[in-house]
Amino acid sequence: MLNPGPNFRRITCPECRKGKIVIASGTARLQCSRLRQVIDGFKVGNCDFATWDTAEIPVEPGERFVVLDFTPFAQLTTS
Ligand SMILES: [Zn+2]
Repeated sequence: MLNPGPNFRRITCPECRKGKIVIASGTARLQCSRLRQVIDGFKVGNCDFATWDTAEIPVEPGERFVVLDFTPFAQLTTS
């Protein structure tokens, strides 16, 4: 797992609050790691959060949304 440093945190899904925000391979869509979908015939996940709009990704004041190595993070910009 990529570990960019203490000023970065993985972003928790605002809908289920269990998954993490990830980028869908191939489409660059932002979605929950527990997204409801079918992979190789198996139904996985139980969350429907997916968006193309980074404004819908929840970050705290003083943080900004960044993508490092195809992984979304909230980066602390104040210290
Ligand atoms: Zn979710």
